[in-house]
Amino acid sequence: MGLFKDKSTFRKFTEKVTNVIVGNPNIDEEFYEELEESLVISDIGIETTDKIMDMLRKRINAKYLTKPEDIKRALADVIAEIVDKGDRNKLSSDYPLVILMIGINGGGKTTSIGKLANMFKERGHSVLLAAADTFRAAAADQLVEWGNRSGVRVIRHEEGTDPAAVIYDAVQSARANDIDVLICDTAGRLQNKTNLMKELEKMDKIISREYPEASRETLIVLDSTTGKNAISQAKEFSEIADITGIVLTKLDGTARGGISITVTDEYNLPIKFIGVGEGIHDLKEFDPKEFAGGIFD
Ligand code: GDP
Repeated sequence: MGLFKDKSTFRKFTEKVTNVIVGNPNIDEEFYEELEESLVISDIGIETTDKIMDMLRKRINAKYLTKPEDIKRALADVIAEIVDKGDRNKLSSDYPLVILMIGINGGGKTTSIGKLANMFKERGHSVLLAAADTFRAAAADQLVEWGNRSGVRVIRHEEGTDPAAVIYDAVQSARANDIDVLICDTAGRLQNKTNLMKELEKMDKIISREYPEASRETLIVLDSTTGKNAISQAKEFSEIADITGIVLTKLDGTARGGISITVTDEYNLPIKFIGVGEGIHDLKEFDPKEFAGGIFD
């Protein structure tokens, strides 16, 4: 089984692109136009499509490519290059590490936190979770459930209390217990952007002040099934937080995977993890080559 399980993620994209490549015996302007169109309707943004087309043309011309298989491989290589942000695709490996998880409700934030916590545990790290989405009691309950699955403790307060106070307590506990990785859930109320920004700023200050030795990551969780909405969320959140990477969820359940290529390209944000299912092990470290190769597998 390939990276994308039932292949629904890139099925439409692959079909369209394959039809163009196979259906065009000549590599002429019409071919390039059709290919360009097939990229755009697969939810790849215009700018990114232009970039892909430029790079692909150069490769096709330089190597005199004509066979569909070679062109598909060249396209996969171009996509791999675009989504490859080098070491930035990897999570910091300096511990202690504090990860702030941001993103709108329903995107898969809690699930991704649960999966990440388990991943660190399985690698032998000590982990602590902070339920700093105090707006919804259910969010903290859900986090505790995930914590239980991997034996990870969750710091939580009453509903409606200051999320920064949760972060403060979590940081103290992480320091006192020599925790390697502290993962913090945050509220996903983008509709109240100013408040959310203040909330995130306050958390940020507390972590910097109380835990200066910790390295930091701020990951935005984006639901790939939401297509272009994921792009606008990346934009909105990058205006209120210093995002260090993307967790792209639900890649198993969408035919609109093209968005993943656009979001990392347009915002120059590295994809760090991809979610490929609801289970605890369905989170994968992002590998540009595997990802691009998986598209045309
Ligand atoms: P939150 O509101 O952002 O915390 O979102 P949740 O973590 O509660 O996830 C919302 C829904 O998406 C839940 O039903 C999850 O099981 C589901 N979900 C999360 N990540 C994935 C994924 O990678 N693949 C699939 N198929 N479902 C996911």
